[in-house]
Amino acid sequence: MMYGPWDGEAPAPSRNSFRGNRCAGCGGELDLTNATGRPRREDHVPGCKFFDRALKVMRYAKELRQVASEPTGRGSDRQRYLQKNAEDLSAAACTGDPVRAVKRLAEKYKAECEKGAKQAEAAEMLMQACQALASCKDPAPITPAPG
Ligand SMILES: [Zn+2]
Repeated sequence: MMYGPWDGEAPAPSRNSFRGNRCAGCGGELDLTNATGRPRREDHVPGCKFFDRALKVMRYAKELRQVASEPTGRGSDRQRYLQKNAEDLSAAACTGDPVRAVKRLAEKYKAECEKGAKQAEAAEMLMQACQALASCKDPAPITPAPG
């Protein structure tokens, strides 16, 4: 199955914008997903590929959150940046179309990278991770610190 081209605009992945969403794969209403803030099997028909992808995105968000809370470098700008983007990724996982949501995030990180933002190194890592997630690959392990 090929994904796209897409019609219409997806809502930006934020915590408040996925209310009333339906899964773009199976058409299931994402009530439990919305209520709990994580992808829920109950909202999908068995074997729904979008659910699998949502889980992958969620898993990465969780890893990111772990790295962001490691004692070394706690409170650093990089950890704050990772923490913030862990939230964005969780939100992306809960949208009706997690693939499109991570693609949009990948574009956002790419832009941050290109303008040489302070967290360009982290942005590049997240961009690559989102690109991997969008093509259903496992993202590279998260590096705790540059180098
Ligand atoms: Zn589904």
